[in-house]
Amino acid sequence: MIQRGKHFLQIPGPTNVPDRVLRAMAQPTIDHRGPEFAQLTHEVMEGLKQIFKTSGTVVIYPSSGTGAWEASLVNTLSPGDRVLMYETGFFATQWKNVAVRLGLEVDFIPGDWRSGADPVRVEQKLAEDQEKKIKAVAIVHNETSTGVTSRVAEIRKAMDRAGHPALLLVDTISSLASIDYRHDEWGVDVTVGCSQKGLMLPPGLGFNAISEKALAQSTSARLPKSYWDWEAMIQINSSGFFPFTPATNLLFGLRESIQLLMEEGLENVFLRHHRLGEATRQAVKAWELELLCKNPEEYSDSLTAVLMPEGHNADVFRKLVLEKFNMSLGNGLGKLAGKVFRIGHLGDFNDLMLAGTLSGIEMGLTLSKIPFSKGGVMAALDYLTYH
Ligand SMILES: *Cc1c(COP(=O)(O)O)cnc(C)c1O
Repeated sequence: MIQRGKHFLQIPGPTNVPDRVLRAMAQPTIDHRGPEFAQLTHEVMEGLKQIFKTSGTVVIYPSSGTGAWEASLVNTLSPGDRVLMYETGFFATQWKNVAVRLGLEVDFIPGDWRSGADPVRVEQKLAEDQEKKIKAVAIVHNETSTGVTSRVAEIRKAMDRAGHPALLLVDTISSLASIDYRHDEWGVDVTVGCSQKGLMLPPGLGFNAISEKALAQSTSARLPKSYWDWEAMIQINSSGFFPFTPATNLLFGLRESIQLLMEEGLENVFLRHHRLGEATRQAVKAWELELLCKNPEEYSDSLTAVLMPEGHNADVFRKLVLEKFNMSLGNGLGKLAGKVFRIGHLGDFNDLMLAGTLSGIEMGLTLSKIPFSKGGVMAALDYLTYH
């Protein structure tokens, strides 16, 4: 069946790409060793620093987020090093798997996939580590499989209270440019990001923001690396170039998306996401469906994961919504498969797009004969009207 009008891409990444970004990318590819390219590199590096809130170093890879995860580990650690990670959900588990495959010893604090990383448990683990064998703590800031945001600033404080020298590595893939994040102020050593979520770009760019401490540690880190090696990258980046062919047209898009974010102002971007997140939660509450996130302090402003009532499969519901209303919703990942659907409300997104999204969900719930109360759309519209 032919569907007219815009597809609603309401998965929590990749997100909707604004027309201005699409136009910026639709340009002839330029010489990546020429002067025009060096200017582009300098501009996007300066912009990214403002977005990560760092005065330190940022590295850009032509890669998915998974590649940027690997880069954060291979540049800072040595074979057999201990790493403390926290099972917040599917993405934390995937990052843990990367660490294990690289030959690191992972201490994985178990979680219920409904809560964020608990600073108290992190502090306990670090306090027990008298010999300081743990070399890094790795936390997913916004767990995209569950819609739970961990309190990174409090994790930092917990590490400081334990007086532990481990590096702090943070995955901010689905929070960067959507939820407040501060690399320098929060004392993060490596922040991992990528292009296709809050930055409103297609997939294909991965980022590491790097502290002085992580940079110093990288000179003695012995995990094998070649493509991901920071050293050659940082050295060549300083003159505006890359050690290999960069994703030129995605960098055109990145320059434009940074421009969009700066025009709006990062603090306004965060407020917009909070408002849309809160309106979504008002709708779920009115539907009398259950949020997967347990702790209101940890509600994610970039996506909402909704539990399906017993006996109903979320993927059957999502299929109906896609076919009837031309809207993609996020699926349940890992052990949440079939049990939740996820509403992405991040990136290039506004009130009426949310109204459309929630309308499609409410009609889909009715057609799928899922037990729920009507009125979620109205509850969200009321919230948006007065906030
Ligand atoms: C999307 C996502 C990833 C994975 O990124 P890819 O680009 O698919 O490799 C990792 N972590 C989080 C929190 C994510 O949301």
